[in-house]
Amino acid sequence: MPQTQAQIIDGKLHAERLRAEVAAEVARLKTKHGLQPGLAVVLVGEDPASQIYVRSKGEHSLGAGMHSVTHRLADDTGQDALLKLIADLNADPRIHGILVQLPLPKHLDEKAVIAAIDPDKDVDGLHVVNAGRLVAGLPALVPCTPMGCMILLRETLGDLSGKRAVVVGRSVLVGKPMAQLLLAADCTVTVAHSRTTDLPAVCREADILVAAVGRPRMIRGDWIKPGAAVIDVGINRVPFDDPEKAAQGKTKVVGDVHFKEASDVAGWITPVPGGVGLMTVAVLLQNTVTAAKRLAGLEA
Ligand code: NDP
Repeated sequence: MPQTQAQIIDGKLHAERLRAEVAAEVARLKTKHGLQPGLAVVLVGEDPASQIYVRSKGEHSLGAGMHSVTHRLADDTGQDALLKLIADLNADPRIHGILVQLPLPKHLDEKAVIAAIDPDKDVDGLHVVNAGRLVAGLPALVPCTPMGCMILLRETLGDLSGKRAVVVGRSVLVGKPMAQLLLAADCTVTVAHSRTTDLPAVCREADILVAAVGRPRMIRGDWIKPGAAVIDVGINRVPFDDPEKAAQGKTKVVGDVHFKEASDVAGWITPVPGGVGLMTVAVLLQNTVTAAKRLAGLEA
């Protein structure tokens, strides 16, 4: 039987659209309410990947017309100094969103730092108050990556009600909030993890399969239900397949799903790169606008 190729869910296109919507809303808030949403990004240390992410967040927030501040702190910054900066940002009326780039250097207590952020400015959605609000169905700031996945799913599939969803991964950052969002969208949700038995069979039940594992190409084509929507959150650096390039130490980024195999079976699939990753920053901007409106008492 001839196989049909999955339709690509183009993260670039969806992210551009979302950023344009955010920019239009920022312009409206400025004109109508004299409100300019403001985002503060805090980076501690010199981690190269974090530096790239932080630069991108700063550029895109400025591009959307926001007030944008980046605090770059030395690698040996102490816990007290970092907490003092967060307290200052909590109190700063020009700042509506605070994001501390993770991971922090080992000597810093990440949980205490996140707990110090005003939950109403916690645009990364990692504060326990926001996690609780999400579970309780209250207005929350939701972690950007799972929110980006939901936007892709809704714009691709429309109503998700009644669909069987499997989320592979149960991190606080991705897997757990993703499961909550799918549940809130009336999916029947299974959360799989490293102790799940017969993971391929669990995955094969999914109309919607979200992979947030951190293992390159772990999810194979025969794990996927024909026609399913596959959302690949994974970002894994691996050597090139071409032995010549691999020998030169060159690497590339792949997802948690074996893209080539999965494309022959799935109905829709996000590529890596070019899929979920691009949505994350766009949702961060959206969360900052949401936070600004709520803090100003405007409907979000
Ligand atoms: P974590 O390492 O925090 O969580 C990984 C999860 O995968 C855990 O719940 C773990 O299970 C589960 N897992 C690990 N191995 C297996 C296995 N063999 N079978 C089934 N489950 C397994 O990762 P994150 O959630 O933070 O990130 C996941 C991936 O998404 C990474 O590749 C990361 O780089 C990427 N990512 C991408 C973002 C983007 O913007 N696109 C943003 C954030 C992350 P257990 O709990 O049992 O240990």
